[in-house]
This record gives sequence, structure tokens and C-alpha cells, in this order.
Amino acid sequence: MSARLPMLPDDPLVPEIRAAVESLRLAERYRELDRHPEFPRAEFRGLGAAHLLGLRTRAALGGRGLALPRVGVALFRLAHASGTTFAKLSLQPEFSSVLAEHGSPPLVDEWFRPMLRGERLVGNHLTEPGAGSDAAAIATTATREGDGYVLDGTKSEAAFAADAEAAIVYARVPGGEPRGGITAFLVPQDLPGVSRHAGVGDLGERWQRRGSVVYSRVRVPERFRIGEEGKGFDYVRTELTRERALLAAIYLGVARAAWDETVEYVGERSAFGRTLSAQQAVAFPLVEDGASLTAAWLYVERTLERLERGEPADADAAMAKWMAGEVALRALDHAIQFHGGRGYSQSLPHEQRWRDVRSGPIAHGPAEIMHLVAARQLWPRRAGTNP
Ligand SMILES: Cc1cc2nc3c(=O)[nH]c(=O)nc-3n(C[C@H](O)[C@H](O)[C@H](O)COP(=O)(O)OP(=O)(O)OC[C@H]3O[C@@H](n4cnc5c(N)ncnc54)[C@H](O)[C@@H]3O)c2cc1C
Repeated sequence: MSARLPMLPDDPLVPEIRAAVESLRLAERYRELDRHPEFPRAEFRGLGAAHLLGLRTRAALGGRGLALPRVGVALFRLAHASGTTFAKLSLQPEFSSVLAEHGSPPLVDEWFRPMLRGERLVGNHLTEPGAGSDAAAIATTATREGDGYVLDGTKSEAAFAADAEAAIVYARVPGGEPRGGITAFLVPQDLPGVSRHAGVGDLGERWQRRGSVVYSRVRVPERFRIGEEGKGFDYVRTELTRERALLAAIYLGVARAAWDETVEYVGERSAFGRTLSAQQAVAFPLVEDGASLTAAWLYVERTLERLERGEPADADAAMAKWMAGEVALRALDHAIQFHGGRGYSQSLPHEQRWRDVRSGPIAHGPAEIMHLVAARQLWPRRAGTNP
């Protein structure tokens, strides 16, 4: 007997998402890219052609200009249908919104618009060996020289280290404020002095091929500066808030797919003369997961609505990301568990989904830092610098 699954979040865009998942074989590619990690160029272009990159990006720049709650539903459904990879790829222009919103028009034309078409990949270089959660400790410098800047420093943990054509690099301009004087630059990765190093491999999200990039006396013309000197943190802070809430939607979409499949499976699988669903030890955790996933989704939805209205929702976005990660990982663990031996194997997608979502409590702001962001809302402090 098949289970009666609750409705998925819906949106008029869903048929287009389904069509893209099918024509680009995104569910299959999700699994293949885990076994053979590479940047999925063809799918990036395919998503661009289907206008599924830059869902939130305003129409004047070539995006869909959707309201954030709709973007959340679209990412949930994309992740539900095909795992984290392509939902995150769809979000890639959002990860470069600093460029879209503060870059000069020629810079936007040269780098952002082609990214919306899936033709050029722009990475983000914030983290350094000595500056992760404490991003204000960034040591990379951008020294004014002639009509531009000279970059020196090492960026680490970066997604697409060897694959991105350019990166938004955050650096300190000597002479600026000691904490807070961070400036953003668009840096083509083929400039002299840029050396890129692949990492040793990751637990999940292997297609991102993270690594480090060393900038050694890299000359960057002034026109590659994004916005004003010293404003980099202000720019990236608002981007991080939005992307945290949207990433939460992705974790919940993937977990919901695993939950759906597990609920169906335990309704069919028999042990000791009855279905697994007839065992409370199996049924009750799944019932709890269903409620937790729904509650977390409502929180994400409400946060996206607040952000769309322009209300300050840093704390909610931080805690929505944390909560979505927690409930998603628990549901994915149950999916592995209740599928038994096969659940632990690569013959089913649950272990990959778990490994991929496990990056959530680390990337884009670790779980503990999300709590710090929320705690600062309750107990405000003097104006700080960290995103
Ligand atoms: C899949 C993935 C993709 C990534 N992509 C990129 C990218 O493209 N570009 C980029 O720049 N970076 C990227 N990162 C790096 C990521 O942003 C950092 O790993 C993250 O910010 C944490 O920094 P860290 O690794 O230095 O850890 P640390 O800052 O050393 O933190 C280690 C642990 O200590 C905790 N901690 C630190 N300070 C405190 C505190 N004050 N109170 C309580 N707990 C604390 C943290 O929460 C964390 O759990 C990526 C990471 C992953 C996993």
C-alpha cells in the first residue's frame, strides 16, 4: 500500500523545473558527479538556457526577478528532484550578488551576465588559512600601486578553486580601518601571479572541487574593484543573510526526497511478518521527521517573506539555516538507517545526500556562528565587523 505523502511546496515554475531535471538528466548527473567530480559545464549552460540561474536576479540584468519565497520553493523542488548540486548551481549568481549589486556596469556585463547564461563561473574567495569564521581576521592585502592594486595572500577552502574563471576576492587595503576595512575585487583567475591548488577531496559536494588560491603580487586595475573601498563586509553581509535562508530550502528539499522515499519503503518492506511501518520504532521517528521538516520549512518560508519585505532578518536566516541543517541531517540519517544495509551503500542516494548536506553546518557560516548571529540580536553589541 503506498503511503499518503503530504503536498510539496508548489509554484508555477515547478513544471519548468521538472522539464529541466528530465532533459538535462539532473538526478542521474547528481549521482555521477559524486563518483567523478568535475564542474558540470554542460548542465550549467543548460540551466542558464532554461533561465534557472539567477532566479532572484532582477530582470534588467537578465534574471527572473522572482520574490525570495518563490525562489525558496523553486530551490526546494530542484533539490527534491535532483539533490543539492543543481539547486546550489542555480543559486550561484546569488553567491555573486555583491558583483551584480555593487560592480560597475562594464564589470557586470563582462562577468555577471555571462554567469546567468552559464557561460562563466565566478567563485568567492573569503576564507583564508587564518580567517574562517572570524572573517575580520582576513590578511590578504590589496596595496594601492599606480592606477590599481596589488593583491597578496592565500585563500583557502574555496569551491571551484581550479574551475572558476574569476573570483570575488576580499582583501584588506593597507591604511584602511584595522577591522572592517575589507574591499571586494573581481579577479580573473588567469592574471599573472594567481596560482590555484586543488584540495585533497571532500566528504561531500565533491563537484565543487575545493582548494586554495595563492595571490602573489597580482596586479588588479582599479576598474576591477567592486563598490567602494572598505565596504566589502557590508556588501557580503546582506548577501550571506539571503543565501543562508535559501540554502536552508535546499537542505529541506533534499531531506524531503529521502523522507518520501523512506516512508514509501517502510510501508512495503516486511520483517517479522509485518511491514516496517507497523513497528513504532520505525514509524515514530519518521512521523517526527515529517513534522520537523514541515516546521523548518515554515520557518524558512517566513524568513524569506520577511527578507522580501526588507525587514531585518539576519538572526532568523542564521537560525533557519541551522535548523534546516539539523532536521535534514536527522531525516537523512533515518533514511540510511531504515533502508538497512542498502541504505548505507552507494546503491541508494541517501548516503550521498547526507554527505552533501553535512557541509551545511560548516559552509556559509558554521552552526556555532549562526548562533552567535542570533545571540547578537537578543543581546546587541557595539557595531561589529564580522558578517
Ligand atoms: C562545501 C564548502 C564550500 C565552501 N566554499 C567556500 C568558498 O567558495 N569560498 C570561501 O571563501 N570559503 C568557502 N568555504 C569555507 C567556509 O566558509 C569555512 O570553512 C567556514 O567559514 C569556517 O571557517 P574555518 O574552516 O576556518 O573554521 P573555524 O573558523 O576554524 O571554525 C571551526 C569551528 O569552530 C567554531 N567557532 C569558531 N569561532 C567560534 C566562536 N567564536 N564561538 C563558537 N564557535 C566558534 C566554528 O563554528 C566551527 O565549528 C567552504 C566550506 C565548505 C565546507
